[in-house]
Amino acid sequence: MKEQDMQITLSTAKKVKPQADQLEFGKQFTDHMFIMDYTQGQGWHDPRIVPYQPLTLEPSAMIFHYGQSVFEGLKAYASPEDEVILFRPEKNFQRLNSSNGRLCIPDVDVDFALKALKTLISVDKEWIPQEEGTSLYIRPFIIATEPYLGVSSSHNYQFIIIMSPVGSYYKEGIHPVKIAVESAFTRAVNGGTGEAKTGGNYASSLKAQEVSEKMGYAQVLWLDGVEKKYIEEVGSMNVFFKINGEIITPALNGSILPGITRDSIIELLKHWNLPVTERRISMEEVYEAYKSGLLEEAFGTGTAAVISPIGEFLWNGEEMIVQNGETGELSKKLYDTLTDIQRGKIEDELNWTMKVEEKVTQ
Ligand SMILES: *Cc1c(COP(=O)(O)O)cnc(C)c1O
Repeated sequence: MKEQDMQITLSTAKKVKPQADQLEFGKQFTDHMFIMDYTQGQGWHDPRIVPYQPLTLEPSAMIFHYGQSVFEGLKAYASPEDEVILFRPEKNFQRLNSSNGRLCIPDVDVDFALKALKTLISVDKEWIPQEEGTSLYIRPFIIATEPYLGVSSSHNYQFIIIMSPVGSYYKEGIHPVKIAVESAFTRAVNGGTGEAKTGGNYASSLKAQEVSEKMGYAQVLWLDGVEKKYIEEVGSMNVFFKINGEIITPALNGSILPGITRDSIIELLKHWNLPVTERRISMEEVYEAYKSGLLEEAFGTGTAAVISPIGEFLWNGEEMIVQNGETGELSKKLYDTLTDIQRGKIEDELNWTMKVEEKVTQ
């Protein structure tokens, strides 16, 4: 598929853009969206940019019944020079294809998907908020559209990209959250779909989230589904601990989602010559470190919050307070560095950012 095959239909009525202080995560959408169809035998076809609008699907479309879908999440930022910057976007489309593989969905061409995204961003460039901490959240996703109730993989799909201007995750500055260690529910197990970014993982995690929120906790810490001993993730983020100077994150094991923020933090720590280890880590080990005063910091990582410091863990009825419930030095430094790279404010030494050229093909 070639870029020149892309049809662009511009919307005639432009929506009113929200004020920067009224931005809410994922509630308002830009004027346009990208869409492309897949038909078995024909492959991906008819890539197009059209006004943001409802989809028309048959009630029997397979997405509604067996949940065959994948998604991604990334952001575009406005730099001080008014350039548009993407952060490692090729990683998102590569990961989309890994998720596709697990869900029996056909791959998309990474280069083409990137070109499509850049064209969509150029068309809706005015929607990128400029204020500190704001960005344009991008949601690519694929759904099974074949009208069929048999249990099998669909013959038809749609690949769609929608975009939403978002405000700063931390309205009053970066601050730690309280986390309940989850001992009843399981997010994912080895051999399951934990490694894939697919809606079903989220649907099955809602109950634990609901219970922990009622107890006054922001998120749950997921343990392995077999022994309920080893730490996997926090909410829908990857997790890091700083224990006695060593920075530890659970090694990818088949049930942990390979976060791009996680990977970037590991690279950054290595770049700074700080000791970072990917290995199995148990809740018992974290507790022992806490008891002996060696648990220095804990934080979650993901595109939405970038770094989310953890101020407390509730485990077996015991409240473990980390860093006096305040943001640790390393968490803050990682947050500042990553967000400054993403916004083009400091030199991108690790070559992570990609500029969206000014090119509105109409
Ligand atoms: C998306 C996601 C993450 C974070 O990935 P990033 O690429 O860093 O945004 C972590 N855990 C889960 C379960 C996720 O879905």
